Amino acid sequence: MEIKSCPFCGQEAVLNVQEFSFGYKRFEVYCTSCLVAKSNYDSSLSAINAWNHRRGKMNIAVDETGVWKSLTDIEKLGATAFIFKKISEHGRESGSFRFLIYTRLGFDTDAYSVLLESGGLDISNNLVIPPKED
Ligand SMILES: [Zn+2]
Repeated sequence: MEIKSCPFCGQEAVLNVQEFSFGYKRFEVYCTSCLVAKSNYDSSLSAINAWNHRRGKMNIAVDETGVWKSLTDIEKLGATAFIFKKISEHGRESGSFRFLIYTRLGFDTDAYSVLLESGGLDISNNLVIPPKED
């Protein structure tokens, strides 16, 4: 059975079999890029089936300009200060794009493609900020 590409980022997904003692096995399908998974199935067929029917949110339409305009000035200031802080932390301490969006910014996998398309991967890959001098 064919495994569909990742519904979140569009990259390749693969089947993984976890083998435990006494021949006990669990099956999962996971994305090789963003690591989203459908786990803990009794058979490869049910894992693949669950994966292939997973509804991704690649088509989340975020009107970021509209969202921005709907915020108050204090919300804009707070959001911008937070993002600046996290981006600058990321530039000094580095890390992957996924680390930036999931760990530093606190998003889940639904945010992956939206933030990818907004240029986040380029920022993450190219950003190097020298450490602060005391
Ligand atoms: Zn993916």
